[in-house]
This record gives sequence, structure tokens and C-alpha cells, in this order.
Amino acid sequence: MPGLTRRAALGVGAGALASSALGAATQSHDAIVVGAGVFGAWTAAKLQDQGKRVLLLDAWGPAHARASSGGESRMTRGSYGADAVYTRMAWDSLADWKALSDTAGLPIFHKTGVLFFFARREAFVDQSIAVHRELKLPTQRLDATQMRTRFPQIDFTGVELGLYEPEFGALMARRAVQTLVDRFVRTGGQYRRAVIVPPDPAAQRLDHLATTSGETLSAARFVFACGPWLPRLFPDILGNRILPTRQEVFFFATPPGDDRFGPARLPGWADFNNGDIYYGFPDLEARGFKIAHDAHGPPIDPDTVDRTPSPAALAEVRTFMARRFPLLARAPLSEARVCQYENSANGDLLIDRHPRWTNAILVGAGSGHGFKHGPAVGRYAAALATDTLASAEPRFSLASKGETQARAVH
Ligand SMILES: Cc1cc2nc3c(=O)[nH]c(=O)nc-3n(C[C@H](O)[C@H](O)[C@H](O)COP(=O)(O)OP(=O)(O)OC[C@H]3O[C@@H](n4cnc5c(N)ncnc54)[C@H](O)[C@@H]3O)c2cc1C
Repeated sequence: MPGLTRRAALGVGAGALASSALGAATQSHDAIVVGAGVFGAWTAAKLQDQGKRVLLLDAWGPAHARASSGGESRMTRGSYGADAVYTRMAWDSLADWKALSDTAGLPIFHKTGVLFFFARREAFVDQSIAVHRELKLPTQRLDATQMRTRFPQIDFTGVELGLYEPEFGALMARRAVQTLVDRFVRTGGQYRRAVIVPPDPAAQRLDHLATTSGETLSAARFVFACGPWLPRLFPDILGNRILPTRQEVFFFATPPGDDRFGPARLPGWADFNNGDIYYGFPDLEARGFKIAHDAHGPPIDPDTVDRTPSPAALAEVRTFMARRFPLLARAPLSEARVCQYENSANGDLLIDRHPRWTNAILVGAGSGHGFKHGPAVGRYAAALATDTLASAEPRFSLASKGETQARAVH
């Protein structure tokens, strides 16, 4: 059966196309992937690379406005302290992102470089450098004077040193996922909009999924990459292991004709700020200077959370900007978004088999840092689903997921 069209991948007229292409009867697939966020889209693509007939489903559409993969941009970087597994995944994923970017009409990856800076030398810095040396990443350690010279638009008062990663930068989030799903469809994959009903936890095995519109969809394997909705699909096993939190993101207009905050002069950045991290991006594609506070907000339900930006969070980033980006202290707010992180207890990803149904894979817990790893996550999940995984990473296991939040991965 031919794949659906580009318009369907982007959700344009998907319903009509889907019903004409699939019919209402039971369909059989090698694999069904539920969730067309960054993790589901890459898993579907990697399964397809293995020659599998894949159906990708989403309740709303690829990287929709309330998905964790929605919105404008995400940082990709290799600094993860001692967590070499994530440095390796970010680095491995970069080649896939660049390849996708090269074939897309508009850029998906902006190589802006990334600067992390620190009030003082801390273990995270030395550990990151050690990992990067081993992987031969060209990361530079800069002192405060070097940073002031290279990035005079940032006030580095109280900062001792920084890590600059020239090969990394920003991924255009919504565009990336939509482009990927479009490519998946154009190369024979099937995508459609459908809402999957939570499977009966008492079932002995999983051989089909039911949709809210009464269809039955069968397959040999299933991948559930449902982001912050995973606890709702599997309340018995994930209800207390993935915690969605409210996160706010702000964009500010930069001064007209001033390129000091553009991607050629300002990298993606994070101020470790003695553990109270703020991060942001240059004015990518004229969307504005982006900034967010990385602290976890209150727990939320992704369907019912009030997505009105709060004056308190706006005041917080303005206070920070007055200190670090004084030239933007009074910059006009151009846009704000309320998103969510879907956190595991310590920030580790979840990529594991369902404890009872060995043909079902659970993929999620991006925990505020998952986007960049999409290609590597997809590769790992596809290998797990097809029993071709060379070696399992214990940190991705369900068994390793605690129920008490204690963030350790940054
Ligand atoms: C504000 C913010 C900033 C971030 N910054 C970064 C960053 O700089 N760098 C980085 O690497 N990461 C970052 N992240 C994290 C990253 O974006 C997420 O970890 C990642 O996007 C999670 O993707 P996902 O595919 O798991 O979830 P989602 O994108 O939420 O996808 C899940 C999909 O499943 C679908 N679904 C759910 N239930 C059903 C159902 N029953 N039936 C059918 N479909 C269903 C949903 O509609 C949704 O589209 C950030 C996240 C946020 C919110």
C-alpha cells in the first residue's frame, strides 16, 4: 500500500486521506508506532530503514502545539558531565540531523555553536572535557577574558570559565519532526491521525490496538512514544515514573539592524548559575532571542494545563536578562509558550520493553533534554523492537526508573 501524502503527514486533510487509504477494517503491519513526536518519528524511520512496514499514528499530528516536540527550537550539545552515554548519543545523532537538514527545503540544524558557562570550575566541566577528549570532540575551554572578547554581548560578571562546542547548535524542532514524517511517508511509510485507547493492562498479550473511533489495528510489534501522555496509557507502570512539569519559554525582539544577538555572533548558551540554570538561543530565523529557566515547574496534565504564560516567569527571565544580557533588558516580548518536560526521576531516558508484552516498546522520558537524541533513540528503540540490539543500556531500563524526583542528568 502506498504511503500517504505530504499533506497527510502535516495533518492537512489527514482524516479523509487516511480513511481512503486504510479503510475502516483491521490492518496488519510489521510495527505500529504510537506518537509522532521526535522519538516516535525517528523510531518509525529507523524501523522503516530495516525494511519494516510501519504505521505511525498521532492523536493530533507531528510536533503539534502541545507535544513536547512542538515549538521552535531545541539545543543540541555534547556537554553532559560524566554522563558519556548522552554525549555519545548527541554526537551520533548530529550526523542524522545534518543529513535531514541537507535534504529539507529550510534548515533544520543551525550550527551556531554552544557555550556553557560556570561561576567556578565544577566537576561537570572537568568530566565533560574528559569525555569530549575521548570522543575527539573539538570542545574549547575558555576563561572569562576569552569569553568577554568573543561574546561581548554577554555580561560574564562572576563567571570563571566556559565550555564552547563549535560543532553543535540549534535544531528547528517542529520543522524537524514534520520534515522527518514527510520523508517517512514519501519513502513508503504510513502516517495517520488516530487516538489509541489505553491497552487493557490485564491482557496476556498485545496483538492489536483500539482507536477511539472504533478501529482495530494489528501488528507484530508496537512502540509507544507518547511523551507526557505515556503515564495515561500505562498508569500501572508509568503513572508514578514519568512526571510532566510546566515549562515556560520566552522570545524577545532584538534591536533593529543589530546582529549581536543573531546566530552568526551569539551561540546557543546556558548559564549554570550555581545550579539554577538558564539557557537560550540567538535570534534564529528572526523569531527573537529565546530564553528559559531550566528549573522544573509544577506537575501538570498535558491536556488540561493552563498554557497562559505567567507574569512571574516573565519577570524571572527579565531579571536574569538584565544581569547577563543588559542590552536586552528592556527588549519587547515577542512571543511566549508553555510547554512541558516529561521527567523520569533522575532525567534518564526510558527505552525498554513493556514488562509483560515483549513485543511492546516504551520510549520516552525525554526529561527536558531528549530532542537532540532523537536519531539515536530511534535507532536503539528500533533495534530493541526487532531483537537486534547489540547491548542494552541499563540506564534506559524501566527497572531503573524511580518514583521520587531527584534530577541528576543536566
Ligand atoms: C520547553 C522545552 C525545552 C526543551 N529544550 C530541549 C533542548 O534544548 N534540547 C533537547 O534535546 N531537548 C529539549 N527538550 C526536550 C525534548 O523536546 C523532549 O524530550 C522531546 O521532544 C520528547 O519527545 P517525545 O516524542 O517523547 O514526546 P512528544 O513530542 O510529546 O510526542 C508524543 C506524541 O504522542 C502522541 N500521543 C500521545 N498519546 C496518544 C494516543 N493515545 N494516541 C495517539 N497519539 C498519542 C501525542 O499527540 C504526541 O504528539 C525541551 C522540551 C521542552 C518542553
